[in-house]
Amino acid sequence: MLIDRVVVGALQSNSYIVFDQEFGEGLVIDAGEEPQKIIHRIEEKGIRVEGIYVTHCHFDHILAVRELKEALGCKFYIHRADEEVLKRSVEDAELYLGLSSFDPPKPDGYIDDGDEIRIGRNILKVLHTPGHTPGSVSYVFDGGVFTGDTLFAGSIGRTDMFGGDIKLLVKSVVEKLFKLPDQYVIYPGHGPTSTIGVEKKFNPYVGVDGILKNRFP
Ligand SMILES: [Zn+2]
Ligand SMILES: [Zn+2]
Repeated sequence: MLIDRVVVGALQSNSYIVFDQEFGEGLVIDAGEEPQKIIHRIEEKGIRVEGIYVTHCHFDHILAVRELKEALGCKFYIHRADEEVLKRSVEDAELYLGLSSFDPPKPDGYIDDGDEIRIGRNILKVLHTPGHTPGSVSYVFDGGVFTGDTLFAGSIGRTDMFGGDIKLLVKSVVEKLFKLPDQYVIYPGHGPTSTIGVEKKFNPYVGVDGILKNRFP
């Protein structure tokens, strides 16, 4: 399985194209902005894209979804608990980017904890990791995990927006993500990659000496 990271938009969001070249198929995880840039990268690879799976429904992860759907004829999947976040993305897009005409796309389907998504010979497993938003999910595969805005290299996602919950976020990281093997690579929603092992040790919020690690029972 191959992973191509496309950095897009004002908030430098990561959009990932995850694909199996031999099978000629793949999917997109998060599509924040700059649809043409993402579409171009997909066309270069000559793969079929079945769906756009988002880690959560903040505007900086979904603004390009409509254009991608139209260009690629693919479907859009979210976790049901982010339905309200999706609706509110209209206000956030206006507040943060001054976009007054954003019309969020309707999901074509829902993903839930434990679901398995096939890409050629590979499987992505859905892990519900709420906290940054109620419907935040991570996508786990053999060797790594897409963590969205739940866990970054050296940081964690903010929880001051609608539906954010710091206790839940810490619980998701400590009890779910940190249970994955240390060598697993983290592919976050913004910024560079890291590994589970490095974040467990050094993350200043949720690592062994992290300021939040033991604050919530
Ligand atoms: Zn977010
Ligand atoms: Zn984000």
